[in-house]
Amino acid sequence: MESAADKLAEVRENIARMCKPARRKPEEVTLIAVSKTHPAERITPLLEAGHRVFGENRVQEAADKWPDLREQYAGVELHLIGQLQSNKAEEAVELFDVIHSLDRPSLLKALAKAMDKAGRRVPCFVQVNIGDEEQKGGCSIADLPAFLEQVRAADIPVAGLMCLPPSGIEPAPFFAFLAKLAKDNGVEGLSMGMSGDYETAVQMGATHVRVGTALFGARG
Ligand SMILES: *Cc1c(COP(=O)(O)O)cnc(C)c1O
Repeated sequence: MESAADKLAEVRENIARMCKPARRKPEEVTLIAVSKTHPAERITPLLEAGHRVFGENRVQEAADKWPDLREQYAGVELHLIGQLQSNKAEEAVELFDVIHSLDRPSLLKALAKAMDKAGRRVPCFVQVNIGDEEQKGGCSIADLPAFLEQVRAADIPVAGLMCLPPSGIEPAPFFAFLAKLAKDNGVEGLSMGMSGDYETAVQMGATHVRVGTALFGARG
């Protein structure tokens, strides 16, 4: 069986391979190991292999797992990749180093308040509903410029734009569109790409890929 370290090396190699034709450096791409649903004992092999950047999608689950792991391993950077309810903003600001799901004014307000209270600014990606899907979270494309202005006015550091393209169709055009929106709006970071499409995302300019299954295997 492939070890966690093997899988990590493989994903890193794939990222590096896709960087080459795009004339990018592998260091420009942050690999977020998405450890949601996996217990601490599945996570420690990656920490032992030297990986430090992880993603979780639930505040409560992160609160249960990560304080202990952070105590054992220095330098952990924890990313919140899932939807966030405003009433969990305070806890999220305490637990996470980066938030990828800022997508609406009510959450912006709650996060700004939580950051003021904590005395720390947590960089946030603004999630964009890139496929204009009714059921999906994310700021609408039309509202993005105004929303980004609000985020900046609230003194929340904008880490970049994040998207989850519609499932079942070729993701590249959506990644390209997110990259264009970032450029048009003066935003640097691009959080896009998961296990099935991170290589494409890297080609299209992803600065952060969120990879779970390819590193940990299927979720139960
Ligand atoms: C679960 C999740 C991922 C990782 O998905 P995999 O297909 O397991 O790599 C990435 N991004 C978000 C927002 C997720 O919820």
